[in-house]
Amino acid sequence: MSQFIHGKRLTDWLHMYPLLNKIISTEETFWLNPNYTRFTEIVKELPFSKEDVLNAEQRLKRFAPFIAKAFPETKQADGMIESPLIEMENMQKELVSMFQQETKGKLLLKCDSHLPIAGSVKARGGIYEVLKHAEELALKHRLLSLADDYSVFASDQFRTFFSQYSITVGSTGNLGLSIGIISAKLGFRVNVHMSAEAKQWKKELLRRNGVNVIEHASDYSHAVEMGRKEAEKDPNNYFIDDENSPHLFMGYAVAAFRLKKQLEEKKIVVDKDHPLFVYLPCGVGGAPGGIAFGLKLLFQDDVHCFFAEPTHSPCMLLGMMTQLHDRVSVQDFGLDNKTEADGLAVGRPSKFVGKIIEKLVSGIYTVNDDKLFMLLKRMKDVEGIALEPSALAGVYGPVQLFAKGKPYMEQHGLTMKNAIHICWATGGSFVPKEEMEAYYQKAVNF
Ligand SMILES: *Cc1c(COP(=O)(O)O)cnc(C)c1O
Repeated sequence: MSQFIHGKRLTDWLHMYPLLNKIISTEETFWLNPNYTRFTEIVKELPFSKEDVLNAEQRLKRFAPFIAKAFPETKQADGMIESPLIEMENMQKELVSMFQQETKGKLLLKCDSHLPIAGSVKARGGIYEVLKHAEELALKHRLLSLADDYSVFASDQFRTFFSQYSITVGSTGNLGLSIGIISAKLGFRVNVHMSAEAKQWKKELLRRNGVNVIEHASDYSHAVEMGRKEAEKDPNNYFIDDENSPHLFMGYAVAAFRLKKQLEEKKIVVDKDHPLFVYLPCGVGGAPGGIAFGLKLLFQDDVHCFFAEPTHSPCMLLGMMTQLHDRVSVQDFGLDNKTEADGLAVGRPSKFVGKIIEKLVSGIYTVNDDKLFMLLKRMKDVEGIALEPSALAGVYGPVQLFAKGKPYMEQHGLTMKNAIHICWATGGSFVPKEEMEAYYQKAVNF
């Protein structure tokens, strides 16, 4: 760590933000956002509206016949890429015995770990942006009109057409998986720049799908940079920019509309007396940011969104707390960005996302890797659900809220006995059996 960090000495930083003491010593922290604002006061400042999200939902509907045809596992859902919302009473009890912490209200798990096609939350944003790009190209070249049956996207004619074009992305693994699989299916040439923590099985799975995987020994921000540089050289090469993409963001935001429907089907009411808490694992910020944004549009002040980051990669926490956003990295404060939660191993947050959500997010907490593995094991034992380490970051949320979030509940006058807590399980169903077993075994020692 250099003596000055963004023009200030470390002692000055610590004075301004005492929580930094814990952050830089990789202790778990719980941060309440001092800029959190009532929704009605800021709705006019927001760059997107409900209509924008509904347009994205419409686009996904247009593509449903193609999805159903190209990915038979989605046929039953008529080509809709969606995941179950389930109650987890066993895990709620388990959390008490694990952490001696009672949680009030109902605990649910949003199983994006089981989203078809990509097996992670990236099946929302990643697939959406590729479909949007494909639609634009097809419209521009008069191969398609909006009223057509989009199953033509599965035809040889379309595949041949798209083979003239490339798509490039940088990823820690899951975004590459999502973009790679959908792009290859449409016939695009795909380049995925993988950062150091990307798992071998993800690279192999992509290569089997004909994706060009470029491996980097450096971290996520560098992999994204390399992808961006490569794509700039070729006008037919479309770069999916995980750090700045409004389209990824919209794809994620659609989740909120789907969730609202699922809550209604379960007859779960969300209102002032039944506050909804959502715990979202955060990497660069796109997935949790987009989902939180969509939820705010729908539930306004009745939803409270908390982000979860590994203690070694709290990039969004640093970016939001200091308001430096993408000008600060965890490395600036001497952190190594090393975590087994590979989906969250991001050292520098998205400014694009940070600016949108800086008054919408209630808080951010951090969790250490050991806890993620303990939770992984218990989740498998008591609920029979196998998740990857990143996904468990959300499951720690209710524990942290009740242990450290009293000031928040009091400030907002919340009655917690009717609270609904949704932990967003962001990935896991694609993890090979042996890998999952190794994760599980790690926790056995704790
Ligand atoms: C990517 C990812 C996240 C976080 O999404 P960001 O857009 O990077 O913030 C969370 N969990 C898993 C499993 C992921 O792959």
